[in-house]
Amino acid sequence: MLLKSRVELLEITLLRSLNARMSLSDKDVRNYTRLKKGFEDEQKSDLWLEGLSEEWLVIHDLLLEHNNSKFQIDTLLISHDKIYPLDIKNFEGDYFVEGEKWCTSTKKEMKNPVHQQNHCVILLRSLLQDLGYHNPLEPYLIFINPEFHLYITTINPSLVFHSQINRFLKKLNTRPVKLNKRHYKIAEQLVALHIVESPYPHLPAYHYEQLEKGILCPKCFSLFSEIHGLILTCGHCGCTEGVESAVLRSVTELSLLFPDQKITTKIVRDWCKIVKSEKTIRRILGKHYKQIGHGKSANYVLPND
Ligand SMILES: [Zn+2]
Repeated sequence: MLLKSRVELLEITLLRSLNARMSLSDKDVRNYTRLKKGFEDEQKSDLWLEGLSEEWLVIHDLLLEHNNSKFQIDTLLISHDKIYPLDIKNFEGDYFVEGEKWCTSTKKEMKNPVHQQNHCVILLRSLLQDLGYHNPLEPYLIFINPEFHLYITTINPSLVFHSQINRFLKKLNTRPVKLNKRHYKIAEQLVALHIVESPYPHLPAYHYEQLEKGILCPKCFSLFSEIHGLILTCGHCGCTEGVESAVLRSVTELSLLFPDQKITTKIVRDWCKIVKSEKTIRRILGKHYKQIGHGKSANYVLPND
């Protein structure tokens, strides 16, 4: 049972929006591309777990902190008798191990992933003990890319290569799986401890006036160029969307980019640009948001704020 899936980093969402509305430096574009590719790879990498029976608790992408050290766990499996922290690697090409050193085929030394994982496991064990849990941990490094080969002279059972994944899943599926409330409690506590880091310190500087206004197409992220009645059409990819959902998406985007900005009819009309009717904007905001105040000073907040 999947308890926590992987969600796109807010930093990616915001960089995508800035990339469409202003010109980013080469460095910021590279950072955006790297983060996006990383997320896509991670999503793909979760597919291999689909062969796992439903009785397991699966938690993806945990960022935790213990003893002032932050550590990340790609995937955590909770079973009746053990907890499995998995580190998923999408390395491609030839690598070799010499003693404790991991190198690429061009002899470039890299961080030893086994050491990195051991460090996380020590912190996780200590965190769990502090919470009162003493379940044994069994970590694995999973190499999901079929184009990866590791030249290694000793057998390390905690490394699982692409050709071994099916057998590894079979092995997991034969283990006793009866879970009780305590297992669910561990999972819930860890998910509650997950840290969401603020993306704002990492973003390039931007301000409202400099950003291009309009509604971004949800498929190709260029600005919608045509509006007919209540339907918007993207001149770039041909995608169409109703005005209501497009305006709501844009309000969310505006609030994420400018968390302190009050949502008013005037600012939303300016932000959306292509939807000229103030009446339409007011109707959409009134339907989905809670109105605070009246007349020109009215602003809108989400109903549960
Ligand atoms: Zn488009």
